[in-house]
Amino acid sequence: MTISKLPYQFDFSLRRHNTFGIDASAHAYLPVTSLEMLLVLRSDPDAARLQRLVLGGGSNLVLTQDFPGLVLHMCNRGREIVGADDDAVYVRAAAGENWHELVLWTLEQGLAGLENLSLIPGNVGAAPIQNIGAYGVELQERFHALTAIDMESGEILTLDRSACAFDYRDSVFKHRLRDRAVVLDVTFALPKRWQPALRYADVAQELDARKLMQPTARDISDAVIAIRTRKLPDPAVIGNAGSFFKNPIVTAVQRNALLEQHPQLVNYQQPNGSYKLAAGWLIDQCGWKGKNLGAAGVYEKQALVLVNRGGASGQDVVRLAQAVQADVMVKFGVTLEPEPIFI
Ligand SMILES: Cc1cc2nc3c(=O)[nH]c(=O)nc-3n(C[C@H](O)[C@H](O)[C@H](O)COP(=O)(O)OP(=O)(O)OC[C@H]3O[C@@H](n4cnc5c(N)ncnc54)[C@H](O)[C@@H]3O)c2cc1C
Repeated sequence: MTISKLPYQFDFSLRRHNTFGIDASAHAYLPVTSLEMLLVLRSDPDAARLQRLVLGGGSNLVLTQDFPGLVLHMCNRGREIVGADDDAVYVRAAAGENWHELVLWTLEQGLAGLENLSLIPGNVGAAPIQNIGAYGVELQERFHALTAIDMESGEILTLDRSACAFDYRDSVFKHRLRDRAVVLDVTFALPKRWQPALRYADVAQELDARKLMQPTARDISDAVIAIRTRKLPDPAVIGNAGSFFKNPIVTAVQRNALLEQHPQLVNYQQPNGSYKLAAGWLIDQCGWKGKNLGAAGVYEKQALVLVNRGGASGQDVVRLAQAVQADVMVKFGVTLEPEPIFI
């Protein structure tokens, strides 16, 4: 098979392109710097036939095996203020921009709104895929629109918030547009009448400790960075993909039954009356915190994070995840759903 015209690389190691540090390779790899490259790719029948994986920073992936297809690594760059109205300033960033650098850049421009999402690894293009969220703010609250190409039809899509169907760690890109849409850029609406989001006790406590009673967006960003640095393993030091499981949502009836058996159950009421359980607490109660299975383990400071203890394969991570899920099911009757994408 010949796939030429574009600077493909073959038998490409993905070890440095996934934060778990799993040693897997791709049959073919292409760093994508423009829409034109994707259009050329579509017109090449050999390349178009290959299975595709769109890659950003690789911080939400578990590579369970070598990837037999073509990895499209989004490397397009650019960020700018594109407009303003009475309510918001609009900022557009290319998919290949680093997320945290974008957050810091908006703060340098005097624009508030993304500060609670500081230090989340990965790139801008992946942020809408699972509607990233942290410390009381989700991407959808600051999202205006995005541009994507539908690789099946070649159509350029402009999707607003409702078309993206955002939900808790979920969007249309995990369903109808899965394996079809490549996000090219994202536009954010940053509010002119900004209110600090201090719902999370951790953030409020950190600001309190810093004696910041009327924090600026920069103060909140600094506080979030400090909390995250204390709590989460740095992927550059110990491989991981952040929170490995979503916090399960249960009905009020299930939550009440669980609370009777486990009075310490950590749970949060949702606006629709359901309850979110703290997955990390459930895993901790099963005795997994700090334990290993083969070369994969459960992080000692936060049971929600699975880590690579050194040389773990994707299969090691899968085995550990399944063992944790099985124990939580036996003890609590609750299904834990993984957050990262398994490839
Ligand atoms: C230490 C750590 C902490 C984390 N904390 C958080 C957190 O607080 N909150 C949170 O929500 N997440 C968190 N994560 C998860 C991760 O950072 C986010 O999901 C992030 O958005 C993934 O970005 P990425 O560029 O690395 O995506 P990748 O891992 O490269 O890709 C993830 C998925 O998005 C798809 N994708 C990537 N780019 C595009 C594109 N341009 N177009 C279409 N599809 C695309 C991929 O195909 C894949 O399905 C954390 C991860 C780590 C390692």
